[in-house]
Amino acid sequence: MDMSMDMSSSTMAMHMSSSMTSMMAMSMPSSTMSMGMSTATSAAMPMSSSGSVNITYLPLSDPRCRNSSCLAYAAGHNQSQTEISWASQFEYGKWTTYYYCIFLFLFGLWFYSQKLGSGYVLYPEPKTTIVQKFTALVRSLTYRRIGIGMSLGVAAFILLASLFATIMTFAQRPYYRMFRGFGSPPLGVRTGLMAVALTPIIVALSGKYNIVTLMTGISHEKLNVLHRYVSYICLALSIVHTVPFIVQPLKEGGAAALRKQFYSPGADEYTGVPPFAMLVFLCTFSIPWFRHRFYEIFVHSHIGAAIVYLGLMFWHAGMALDSWDYLWATLAVWLFSLCGRLLVKLKTPGFKGAEATLEDIDGEILKITIPAFEAFAKWKPGQHVFLRFPTISPVDNHPFTIASACDETYVTDRKGRTTRKPILFLIKPQKGITKRLMKIAQQDASPRTRPVLIEGPYGGHHCQFEYRYEQMILVAGGSGITAVLPLLTDLSRKIGRERTVIRQIKLIWAVKHKHALAWVRDQLHEALTTAPAGTVTIDYYVTSENSTSESSSTHTPDAEKAVPQLPDDGKQVEVHEKNDVLGPGLFGRPVLRQLIPAALEHERICVVGCGPKGMNQDLSNAVATCQKKVLRGEVQEVALHTETFGW
Ligand SMILES: Cc1cc2nc3c(=O)[nH]c(=O)nc-3n(C[C@H](O)[C@H](O)[C@H](O)COP(=O)(O)OP(=O)(O)OC[C@H]3O[C@@H](n4cnc5c(N)ncnc54)[C@H](O)[C@@H]3O)c2cc1C
Repeated sequence: MDMSMDMSSSTMAMHMSSSMTSMMAMSMPSSTMSMGMSTATSAAMPMSSSGSVNITYLPLSDPRCRNSSCLAYAAGHNQSQTEISWASQFEYGKWTTYYYCIFLFLFGLWFYSQKLGSGYVLYPEPKTTIVQKFTALVRSLTYRRIGIGMSLGVAAFILLASLFATIMTFAQRPYYRMFRGFGSPPLGVRTGLMAVALTPIIVALSGKYNIVTLMTGISHEKLNVLHRYVSYICLALSIVHTVPFIVQPLKEGGAAALRKQFYSPGADEYTGVPPFAMLVFLCTFSIPWFRHRFYEIFVHSHIGAAIVYLGLMFWHAGMALDSWDYLWATLAVWLFSLCGRLLVKLKTPGFKGAEATLEDIDGEILKITIPAFEAFAKWKPGQHVFLRFPTISPVDNHPFTIASACDETYVTDRKGRTTRKPILFLIKPQKGITKRLMKIAQQDASPRTRPVLIEGPYGGHHCQFEYRYEQMILVAGGSGITAVLPLLTDLSRKIGRERTVIRQIKLIWAVKHKHALAWVRDQLHEALTTAPAGTVTIDYYVTSENSTSESSSTHTPDAEKAVPQLPDDGKQVEVHEKNDVLGPGLFGRPVLRQLIPAALEHERICVVGCGPKGMNQDLSNAVATCQKKVLRGEVQEVALHTETFGW
């Protein structure tokens, strides 16, 4: 990032102030001056005694007039800086910060107003209010997913941020100065400052424990997409920042001039290349293709490269005006995140950690239970933690949703043993540590234990659903049941309690095979039997078996592909399980765009979903469509919360 004025400019300023002639020249536009001088020089060019040309009065058009000894050049420099000063370009860094701070403030305002609004309202409004209709209109747009891997709300944020950066970059002219020696190109300086101002924002958006989450309630896993896209904007700005510093020397002196600029130790071009290369590395190796395949390599190299990048930026920015302020802010944001994780979020009952029991439920799902302990006393439904198994892989830290609801009351005896239910995790093994954990669980019939460190809880819902919605519709796909299960358990305990408004809960769960019910049969049974009769309904859909096939014969990963999607009339075939407390299941995939609108039975409804990307997308679109019912005044609110197991 070249943010310096040239050395020649400072010496030039001294030279100018000492000369009366220069003073006159400074107040003169360079074109006028060069024209005037040109006539004078052609009349009588002063020569030194040695015969060399005195360049003082040469016109700017003369290639020898390229330093402060030439008055036309000095005046040209002065005029260029008056027209668009180097220091003024630093304001762009501040505006970039203000832009994101405004969003932070607005989201914070929205978050706290939601928190206040989620308070106890026993009865719905007599009819749908104008505020509810306006909210529905916004939701019909922001919930909609169009297959770009993000909601329209997030896409709009990214689009707006890109637009802001583009306007800020290209609105002010000129982009270049007449000569490189007149100072750094304004386009290069401002984009450099905008890029450096984004650094603390990018780091804040990446932390698990971070200031943005504290202010807006948006959890780290949801901010991660913004972390990535703001980084891409930073990379784009850095590319634009670099271009003028290449183009101008090339134009003025060809490859030799360019080489000179880039190979002068300490020059801004020289110090700019390493951090730029680091930024390219950081952005390139975070693309989903690489990240999903080599997550561990990605995460460790990413953090290492980010630290090196920050160090190199201190070197490159060279304390130019307020440039280091952004870098100190980055360091502060980072340290805040680290301290928060260590001091607030890392929970362990002893130095060695808690004891995790690993069990293989059915060859498909790994069950991990950790006895509840004092330091980890509270969590909300839908929250996740990071588990680290120091004896298996001390550097790996993996997020898993807590599948059990936090017990409201518990007893701890004198020896510190609590009668609370353990913290439960249901994990679908992948190819890394989860596979190794599953192997350990399968080694022996008896449950296996391993020490574990818990960091969290993170995320979850801020809304107290039981005080705000009469109906909850929970939608899960496969192992996504872990995210909605604690909500089902928690809310089924609260139905009918004094001061709560929750009246009905419906769970829609799609599983490939019927034997998946074994993962959570006890919890589902508990929900059905705890809540008043008829208030909890559970519809499960078996997608990879048909009414004639045996469960075991269809238990293959490709089986689902063979099952046709249900016809649009939504007529599923019933699974006959007469003695099962869960009731009849259905064969085929749930058609959410039909099921969700048909399931709305109360005034204020909230839909919570967790499943594969495609399912979450269908669900979001189904709820976006349901907003029409609010606009028509048929219901008062249909809200949506979705969880995804990844970023
Ligand atoms: C908020 C959240 C909650 C989750 N809850 C559950 C749950 O309750 N049950 C469940 O089965 N899975 C859950 N997951 C997914 C789970 O974290 C990954 O499947 C697990 O970390 C994979 O570990 P692995 O080494 O076996 O993966 P690999 O086979 O190495 O990778 C498989 C996939 O997991 C991703 N992944 C790997 N490590 C991590 C990591 N440390 N952080 C984020 N993603 C990673 C990779 O990008 C890849 O896409 C959750 C994920 C998130 C983000």
